[in-house]
Amino acid sequence: MLQQILAELAETNTRLVAVSKTKPVEQILDMYHQGQRIFGENRVQELVEKQATLPKDIEWHAIGHLQTNKVKYICSFVSLIHSVDSLKLLREINKQAVRNERVIDCLLQIKIAAEDSKFGLSQADAKTLLGSEAFSQLQNVRIVGLMGMATFTDNIDQVRGEFQHLKTCFEELKTTFFSEQADFKEISMGMSGDYRIAQEEGSTMVRIGSLLFGAR
Ligand SMILES: *Cc1c(COP(=O)(O)O)cnc(C)c1O
Repeated sequence: MLQQILAELAETNTRLVAVSKTKPVEQILDMYHQGQRIFGENRVQELVEKQATLPKDIEWHAIGHLQTNKVKYICSFVSLIHSVDSLKLLREINKQAVRNERVIDCLLQIKIAAEDSKFGLSQADAKTLLGSEAFSQLQNVRIVGLMGMATFTDNIDQVRGEFQHLKTCFEELKTTFFSEQADFKEISMGMSGDYRIAQEEGSTMVRIGSLLFGAR
């Protein structure tokens, strides 16, 4: 399954984040030995435990809603945080990044789904954040793109429309705030059920769990 998905993604240079949440380290190691290096987790404790035992050249991505008080546990090693949805969270990531003497790459999570339960900023919120004086002070975080989760539905047109919205949002923020920054280039969208649509709509990074590792 891994090789098949990688072959599909290669057509558009889309990267794979293998979402290993709830899965044992043996299964992650097996996928590591097949060449996969980027893994995503959504719970801090699980992420910390797995990072400690698994090979050090794994790129760990934090993909789920992140509580401010847990940021300190992951900032020594995390490669990318997908789910930044407030200035408060970003300030804490910056603070912990300073302590660890590094710059941490982050994505702003944009709310694109119709469902209430999904976290994220509106496009207007994202603009306010990026235009703020407080944001300009943060030297140890680097915003490299956006992340979004589509509504969990069989309605393909709706999912496609939500991904298109994220892409439009990306283009607008790029023009307004990042026109000089080539590293603002990531659109993290697409999961097991909708990654092909996301790929068609310009995803640069898909987050796939159950299709790779089996149902949770
Ligand atoms: C669990 C999870 C995924 C992967 O979901 P699958 O449907 O198993 O592919 C992707 N993104 C986030 C934020 C998740 O929490």
